[in-house]
Amino acid sequence: MTFLSHLECGRCAKTYDADLLRNLCDCGGPLLVRYDLKAAAASGFRPAALAGRVSSLWRYREVLPVRREENIITLGEGMTPLLPLRRLGEALGLPNLMLKDEGLNPTGTFKARGAATGISRAKELGVKAVAMPTNGNAGGAWASYGARAGISVTLVMPTDAPAMSVLEATAVGAKAYMVKGQITDAGAIIGRSAQANGWFEAATLKEPWRIEGKKTMGYEIAEQLNWELPDVILYPTGGGVGIIGIYKALLEMRELGWLPENVKLPRLVAVQAEGCQPIVKAFQEGKTVSEKWENASTVAQGIRVPKALGDFLVLEAVRATGGTCVAVADADTMWGLEQISRLEGAFICPEGASLVAAARMLLKDGWLQPQERVVLLNTGAGIKYPDIFKSELPVLEIDATI
Ligand SMILES: *Cc1c(COP(=O)(O)O)cnc(C)c1O
Ligand SMILES: [Zn+2]
Repeated sequence: MTFLSHLECGRCAKTYDADLLRNLCDCGGPLLVRYDLKAAAASGFRPAALAGRVSSLWRYREVLPVRREENIITLGEGMTPLLPLRRLGEALGLPNLMLKDEGLNPTGTFKARGAATGISRAKELGVKAVAMPTNGNAGGAWASYGARAGISVTLVMPTDAPAMSVLEATAVGAKAYMVKGQITDAGAIIGRSAQANGWFEAATLKEPWRIEGKKTMGYEIAEQLNWELPDVILYPTGGGVGIIGIYKALLEMRELGWLPENVKLPRLVAVQAEGCQPIVKAFQEGKTVSEKWENASTVAQGIRVPKALGDFLVLEAVRATGGTCVAVADADTMWGLEQISRLEGAFICPEGASLVAAARMLLKDGWLQPQERVVLLNTGAGIKYPDIFKSELPVLEIDATI
């Protein structure tokens, strides 16, 4: 069962009933889901209790927001592998480098986590139709979970969204509109038309439930490392839900008593693309919110988010853990992709590959120490991006009659 308690504004801390359908706080801030963690701990929710549970994110049921079992919409998301990267680590000079590979999720990206909790809770609260702006992967995931739940899904995506995710979303029955512009433009269209169309708006952080699925990455990393946290986690940051979620999970685990009170939390690193780095800029300028990034452009489309609603929460998570923010050029991202593919057999998405370049940079700067335990949080699979890969390998032809 869940220990869901209430919703709390991430900006002004005003609280709301968790069982009412709601987007944002009256102040415009994103709402975060709160649980009665004391009661959860007292009920016996502790690491040892996880043994033998389902191998998906639903193993953390007590701190997920679905009340009734039958409302859970799952395709088996979560519990992705945490892999040592021995060959890449050696090449970079980071022997304790690891990859949390979210490419193994249903729909090929970690967006499945947020879609699972978001759609499940939407179903539980009686939602019949959702709509969202997306750069592609969230659309594919929400469309898939929506189909399984019998909830209609409407998407607005930039015209240059990866073809595979448009195909994926429409194949499972979503309605997809394409807009010449950025995800922020798509979001404005949804915002204007949601009410008239009876759509529940499910844009990043515009509803409280998506982040709950994504936070389970934090629980899993801790569990997979036997409750010894890594020193650093690098995360490719667009809207920032993943990094905010991981930070939320760390605080929850500490409150649950799963981590020592004085535990040193991993330093969280928000990685963005040089062509769209509003949060990096805000971090460097010592600001608490970001400004919209003009003419955003990067090969890593999942992190092409010119202005994130939760930017202040990303900055808070980074600063509170002693982390940092860095931007990576597309050419370095493609370099990272080649390195991790060839040395590890991990054909990952460009967003994830940007972390390889970021790790190299941070080591060179002395920000990372060689022996530190570093997790690269790869958000998706390379096979979702056939359009960006031009194979430079010679394809050898062979005569079929030989
Ligand atoms: C959405 C997405 C991201 C960014 O996720 P946020 O949590 O919104 O920052 C990164 N990588 C991929 C592949 C994505 O689809
Ligand atoms: Zn508020």
